[in-house]
Amino acid sequence: MRLCYIHLAGEQRLAIGCPDGAGYRVVPVELVDPSAPRDALDLLERADRAELAAKAAELAAARAEGTFAEEEVTFAPAVRGMSKIVCLALNYRAHAEEGGFTPPERPVIFLKGPNTLAGHGAEISVPPATRRIDHEGELVVVVGRRIRNLGAGEDWRTAVAGYSVMNDLTARDFQLADIEARHPWDLSKSIDGYGPVGPWLVSPDEVPDPQDLELEVRVDGEIRQRSSTSKMIFGMGELLRRLSALMTLERGDVIATGTPDGIGPVPDGGTVEVRIGTVGTLRNRVRFEHGFEHGFEHGFEHGES
Ligand code: MG
Repeated sequence: MRLCYIHLAGEQRLAIGCPDGAGYRVVPVELVDPSAPRDALDLLERADRAELAAKAAELAAARAEGTFAEEEVTFAPAVRGMSKIVCLALNYRAHAEEGGFTPPERPVIFLKGPNTLAGHGAEISVPPATRRIDHEGELVVVVGRRIRNLGAGEDWRTAVAGYSVMNDLTARDFQLADIEARHPWDLSKSIDGYGPVGPWLVSPDEVPDPQDLELEVRVDGEIRQRSSTSKMIFGMGELLRRLSALMTLERGDVIATGTPDGIGPVPDGGTVEVRIGTVGTLRNRVRFEHGFEHGFEHGFEHGES
């Protein structure tokens, strides 16, 4: 099942994405069943969700009134209501090496705030205080139930509600200056809108092997990052086990599993597209609030970090 939140009549509504030619048709859940849950995780737990999906597909095929082509809707973030957004740093060897870091022996994380969430298609605004915004395409896993000390013998898949796509946007100028000064660099990751997620939250049955997905990032059509989730240093199961040994992971929590090599800046007006296998393609345009007059400061070039 493929779910999303869309802006409709001044509210955020849960909707089902149904295959439609090369794309998807979006069917608001209340059209399928007025009594169905309006929260993605609640809906995914419903015993009759296959019936709901089949009914949605029928409405989509009939182009029923109240259903929409993908291009017609405004997407909200595909995740919400989390207690935390945990992001992996340096979880791909080639990315660690491009930044001059030794691949880590335990997961290295930072947290992003909910203020960073944005929907698929949203324009990302770059405040005048920062001069460089970098793309980082990442697979997102959404926790489906509270986990603490997930055991080695336990099937981690039972703790997953679904998968999505994030662009872990980064004010690289702030981050590098803070790293150099040995300061925490949270601010570079915490700017409003710097964590678009979506368009879809996809249930695990549609992603048979999350550790074997192609990941590709394009900026204005040019390929910048191309890798596979098979190259993660810490895979999904190990991440959930190691993190839950130290922090309780709550239902709805979001884990962004890190980015492969090829990070680089996005120009003013540039469009970033993050495509991850069948999970989806997340697209956002970047807009510098006060234009971009002086080029990249400090001599940063594409690919350099
Ligand atoms: Mg990242």
